[in-house]
Amino acid sequence: MALIVQKYGGTSIAGPERIKKVARRIIDTKKRGNRVVIVVSAPGDTTDELIKTAQQITPSPSEREMDMLLATGEQMSSAFLAMAIHALGEEAVSLTGGQVGIVTDETFTNAKIRRIDTRKIEKELSNDRIVIVAGFQGITAERDITTLGRGGSDLTAVALASVLRADQCEVYTDVAGVYTADPRIVSDARKIDRISYEEMLELASLGAQVMVPRSIHVANKFGVDIHVRSSFSDEEGTVITREVSRMEEVVVSGVAYDKDMVKVAITDVPDRPGIAAKIFGALGKEKVNVDMIIQSSAVGAGVNSISFTVARGALRKTLDTMEKVKQEISAKGIVYDDGVAKVSIVGVGMRTHSGVASKMFSALAQENINIEMISTSEIKISCVIKEKDTEKAVRAIHRKFGLGKAPGKGRK
Ligand code: ADP
Ligand code: ASP
Ligand code: MG
Repeated sequence: MALIVQKYGGTSIAGPERIKKVARRIIDTKKRGNRVVIVVSAPGDTTDELIKTAQQITPSPSEREMDMLLATGEQMSSAFLAMAIHALGEEAVSLTGGQVGIVTDETFTNAKIRRIDTRKIEKELSNDRIVIVAGFQGITAERDITTLGRGGSDLTAVALASVLRADQCEVYTDVAGVYTADPRIVSDARKIDRISYEEMLELASLGAQVMVPRSIHVANKFGVDIHVRSSFSDEEGTVITREVSRMEEVVVSGVAYDKDMVKVAITDVPDRPGIAAKIFGALGKEKVNVDMIIQSSAVGAGVNSISFTVARGALRKTLDTMEKVKQEISAKGIVYDDGVAKVSIVGVGMRTHSGVASKMFSALAQENINIEMISTSEIKISCVIKEKDTEKAVRAIHRKFGLGKAPGKGRK
């Protein structure tokens, strides 16, 4: 008897009709002779709405209380789904992360899974029940409820598939798989049949929302194959796996974008050793993650300007920290621009091909889009541009690399 873990995202279980439909799919899976463990997200926009309400009460709610609050979204879905399955005559039990035995550290709002005690799930499965787990949450050794960071239900599913040694891990979402670009922006984006952990991790880290990066880390570490597919059809989706052998080398696998960022610039910094260490040391101490960094020195003037990007949520902390460091490094000004975005291309084939960066830059140039920052690594190239140009940029790059599904145009 195979064990199948299925995860259903928020859109897939938004409202009673969709919940009933998902219940039928789950029962079909069980009736084919499988044991099933289901992971659910909060319905629709519940998590965003809960955050909004909390912020109307106080702009800086306690992180512990935020986790108490946000975990309720997933708990709601799990109970609804269990009820829908009962109504169809099957046995099911809903469980919170804590009840399942997902033990995390104490980092509220972004907790790390320490271990999972599988006894409860195994007991329920042996009683022939469908187990429905509220995703995105766990419990500390002190029995405080934690959440695993936005999009964390993907991580719950992969982690459970790993510890339960599941035969399959299916992630059901509102698109039919992983595409060469966000299908909501690029109408001719192509579904990718198989993609390596390495490329998926880059795409996810660079903004492709479809899977949360931490889930791919765990999948890679424990060798869990993930099948991403649509909850609205039976179409085969995308398998995320270790090795992807292709008949022909693919240079660029996909385009991603990220609007959740701000560019901060420190102007007129003296050009002497130790300045960057002070700035980024102070940010590191405050646990601010810095993404891209550019330092430019004005010829002969003895001063530099240093620009870097951070996530939007880290702006306040960044500006406060910079105000403190400003005196120490005798900088003149600190400015920021929250109207920027990052567009990126990813592909393992870049290791062996040249001219990829210039092709990306020329795609942007042809659309008259200015590049503000560039960063490259072995298998990716990213450019910071104006946020308003994001969609145009993604489409232009996608077209330039021939990633679309127009006849005769494969990925190359
Ligand atoms: P869920 O609620 O099921 O977890 P998400 O909204 O988190 O779903 O992720 C699915 C969304 O990811 C899609 O609706 C799509 O707009 C977006 N997306 C971004 N990039 C990609 C991509 N390359 N392939 C597929 N979907 C993508
Ligand atoms: N509900 C949580 C979120 O919106 C977790 C998830 O959907 O995976 O981030
Ligand atoms: Mg998601």
